[in-house]
Amino acid sequence: MIFIEAGVKSGIGRDNAPGRGARKQADFATSCVAIESDRMDHVDSKTRSRIMSSVGQKNTGPEMTLRSALHRAGLRYVLHDRGLPGSPDLVFARRRAVIFVHGCYWHAHGCHRSTIPLTRREFWLSKFTANKRRDAENDAKLTAAGWRVLRVWECALVGKSARSGDQIAKDVIRWLYSDSLIQDIPEIDSAEPGSC
Ligand code: ZN
Repeated sequence: MIFIEAGVKSGIGRDNAPGRGARKQADFATSCVAIESDRMDHVDSKTRSRIMSSVGQKNTGPEMTLRSALHRAGLRYVLHDRGLPGSPDLVFARRRAVIFVHGCYWHAHGCHRSTIPLTRREFWLSKFTANKRRDAENDAKLTAAGWRVLRVWECALVGKSARSGDQIAKDVIRWLYSDSLIQDIPEIDSAEPGSC
């Protein structure tokens, strides 16, 4: 599904007439993957393998929540542009800005949702390190090419630390119209284990 960026329509909230939100939400209906990564230590290896094969994919639950909220706010964007490093989840070409919605477990956020499996610990640590290195490389390539990068972490949208999609959308829009080169939601400093 491709949306062409058309900028902010007229601010947040005006497009929330009863029924419209639900209809637009339905427009985004797809097979969403909710990653319950904070439970990964407690599942068997077969289940973990199934879950891990689903992470890193596009159209995850948190991504769909954010996309729905941004769409309600009047933003339009291109999805999953494979022509850009890391295939950013949302691309705002006019603002020269991209957004990644990162799963906390797979991208090793360091928050309460990114625990390390008790078994094959070294294997997973090296895997997470490689993922973080790849993410950093993609961010560097994007900024070198004149793009700004926003990383919206799963824990901002799912679980005990979550805020509503509309609240996150406000932060996203504020960032889109700022000069910030790279930013995280939540701010990375507040993303210590157990604090977000
Ligand atoms: Zn997180």
